Formats: sequence, C-alpha cells, structure tokens
Amino acid sequence: MQKDATQEQIDKVNQQVKKLGLTPVDIPGSQRIAIGIIGNTGPIDPELFTGLDGVKEAIPVSKPYKLVSREVKPENTVIEIGDIKIGGREFTVIAGPCAVESLEQCITIARLVKKAGAHLFRGGAFKPRTSPYSFQGLGDKGLEILAEVRNQTGMLIVTEAIDHEVLAEVEATADVIQIGARNMQNFSLLKRAGKSTKPILLKRGMSATIEELLMAAEYIMAEGNHRVILCERGVRTFADHSRNTLDLSAIPAVKALSHLPIIVDPSHAAGRRDQVIPLSRGALAVGAHGLMVEVHHDPQHALSDGPQSLYPEQFAELMDAIRKLSSLW
Ligand code: PEP
Ligand code: MN
Repeated sequence: MQKDATQEQIDKVNQQVKKLGLTPVDIPGSQRIAIGIIGNTGPIDPELFTGLDGVKEAIPVSKPYKLVSREVKPENTVIEIGDIKIGGREFTVIAGPCAVESLEQCITIARLVKKAGAHLFRGGAFKPRTSPYSFQGLGDKGLEILAEVRNQTGMLIVTEAIDHEVLAEVEATADVIQIGARNMQNFSLLKRAGKSTKPILLKRGMSATIEELLMAAEYIMAEGNHRVILCERGVRTFADHSRNTLDLSAIPAVKALSHLPIIVDPSHAAGRRDQVIPLSRGALAVGAHGLMVEVHHDPQHALSDGPQSLYPEQFAELMDAIRKLSSLW
C-alpha cells in the first residue's frame, strides 16, 4: 500500500482478496503496510489490485513461500522477547544446558551464563533422543524448574516442544518455544505452533534445504504466528571431523530470501566443544543475529550432549570475543 493509505483503502483491498476466496494477511512494516495474499493455487492477476485506491504496487511473489519472503516484507523482522530484540543490530546469545537435569544444575548454569552476558536461558525439559534408552528429559518437572529459573534469575526461557501433544504445556512456561531439527517438517506441530502467542525458534532439519526450512516457517506464519526465529544447526555431510557440518553460507542465503531473523547453534553443529568458539566467531562474522550455545558446569556428568557443552569459563571467553568482534561491525 502507499505510505499514506487510509484504513478504508486497506479494507477495500482486503475485501477484494476475500471476494476471490483468498485470505489477506496484513504485514505491518515501518515504511508501509503490505497485504500478503495466501490460499491461491496459481498466479493472480496483479491488475485486480493495481487499480484500487491506495495501492502502490502488486508484486507476484516468485517463491513458494510468501509471508516468510523478503519480496513481501523488505525490512528485517525484529522479534521482541521482554526487552531483548532478535533480528536487529544486537547479537543475541541463548545459553544453557542441553537438558534440564535438576533445579540446582539449572540455577548454577543460569547464574554463570547470565554473569557472562547471555541474554536468554535454554534447557530441554522434553528431549528428542536417538535412543529410547537415553535420558528423555524431566518433562513437566523440567518445565517447573525452568519457571523457577526465570523467577530466581530473571532470565527468559527457551525450551523445546517435541510434539503437538506437549506444545500447550511448553507454551505455558516458555518465553520462546523451540522446534527441533528432527521436527522441522512435523506439520501438525508447525501448525499448532502457528496458533501460539509465543515466538518460535525453528531449527533447520539435518538434511533440509533452505527452501524446506523457509517452507516450514511459512507453515507457522500462515497460521498467524509471525514471530519465527530460524536457526542453522549444522547439516549432515560425509565429514566425520564434526557431528554435523555447520552451513555458514545458509546465513547470507536466508537473509537474502527472508526478513526473519536467523541465529546459529554451533554446539549441535560441532558435537565437540573445541570447535564451538571458532564456529561462533564465524557465525557473528557472516551476519547471524545471534547464537544458541550449550553450556554445562559439569559436562563430564551431563545427561545429554556433555562433549559439546562449553565449560562456564569458555562461555565467558566466548562472550568476551563476541563483544570485541561486534565492535568491529
Ligand atoms: C537441542 O537444541 O538440544 C537439540 C536437540 O537440537 P537439534 O534439534 O538441533 O538437534
Ligand atoms: Mn543438545
């Protein structure tokens, strides 16, 4: 719409979209309002709209994803979580253990990462594990512990919903709901996340293309939740010097195609702690909006992902490096 378009003109466009049996989605921006059209199975004639008052242009979106696309919303989406902003100029760091193991463990780690400068606390109450015999997480009890961590430290919480069934429960506690790599194409989970009022941290599937990642984000946005943060966490390749291969080229690629913020998880990419700090520096350098890093005060005894968890001193070192490198930008 033109910058000075009136509400009446916007309403007329919305009515026109509905008349075609399609769904209009308002996409507010700082410069202007855009109206996305979803529900069509083929091209729509732009002239159906260009003649209407207040319309600046009608742009056929060339990609299969729409709401996610920069064609529909040229400026970056900045997601506010409390007073933290992801997607703008700040570099946001989410840190904490892989899994919630006990209140004492979480509080210990939360205090340490907060002191070092982390912005949000992570910890899984429900864990998607390769083996059914591995620790599956504390479940409900884990969520209670996370709520207590927020009470005691003031840190906001990122935690995973592993399926549609637990999403409502996770939603009640989490400040950001994580959808894991294994679930990137769990469409019922994505649709349910799209109805949530909480921001979603969507991790790239371990063999997903960028287009598949963006289509997964589109599922969430199409249900009405526009607060989606993408996360590159490494993909599977033939390389065996790391658990996965961190695809740093995904960052500029996604930023070119989408207005959504994208962060990097170097821990699951590397699978080993000695690579986590160098990969984190790389993530900052290629323009990621932040990091999610696993940290444990006693990784030898961690119930999951100990070998890739940074010691608290290493995390503090990483935060120092980030502060120094950010000043170069
Ligand atoms: C995690 O963040 O602990 C996790 C299980 O990550 P991913 O889904 O990327 O494997
Ligand atoms: Mn983990």
